[in-house]
Amino acid sequence: MTTLASRLAEVDGSIAEAARSAGRDPGEIARIVVTKFHPAALVRQLHDLGVRDIAENRQQELTAKRDELVDLGDMRWHFVGQIQSKKARAVRRAASVVHSVDREKIVHALEDPAADPIDVLVQVNLTDDPQRGGVAPEHASRLAETIAAADSLRLRGVMAVAPLDERPAAAFERLAHCAENVRAVDAGATWISAGMSQDFVEAIACGATHLRIGTAITGPRPPQD
Ligand SMILES: *Cc1c(COP(=O)(O)O)cnc(C)c1O
Repeated sequence: MTTLASRLAEVDGSIAEAARSAGRDPGEIARIVVTKFHPAALVRQLHDLGVRDIAENRQQELTAKRDELVDLGDMRWHFVGQIQSKKARAVRRAASVVHSVDREKIVHALEDPAADPIDVLVQVNLTDDPQRGGVAPEHASRLAETIAAADSLRLRGVMAVAPLDERPAAAFERLAHCAENVRAVDAGATWISAGMSQDFVEAIACGATHLRIGTAITGPRPPQD
């Protein structure tokens, strides 16, 4: 096995174990591989290993990799980065799922009544720092209502990144509470996108349905430009 294959297998084993110890079915948890800063060739290797969910956090990189890998027709591309409204259309064209919708302006910029609906999540800020991405937890339901009213967007649930200065489990509990409020807006909004290389076990214990895992699978990221 290559190093990539063995890291992928190891992470998948840990996901299954964490799911079972939380009394959950591992089959209900999606593992998305975050490939930012890595070349398209790595995404192709992951596809060969059976990976079908890939995430990027910059629009230009997402668009470039997707264009380079058009032949991988069954790949689902997820966008997890901050969105500028002038780039929202390009994000929409390249992504099947947008995890990082955190304000009304982005909801409107992502809309495209002529296109098939895409899946979107409300990104929640679990820190006290308003500069970090995400809507404040108390405003998540209102943003969810705006998304639910947009015909070309499908409200799927919530997304968050754990703060650095707090136990991830405590933060993910708050996210689970937000997820309940968002589900009250639309019963189909059942996704909780949480858990990265360092904290996916805690995220699974708190109900995460979509894990975004980078370095634990890909190895260290090349330096960014
Ligand atoms: C980079 C990134 C990840 C993956 O982080 P790792 O620590 O490498 O697993 C997950 N979510 C978001 C939003 C990211 O930007």
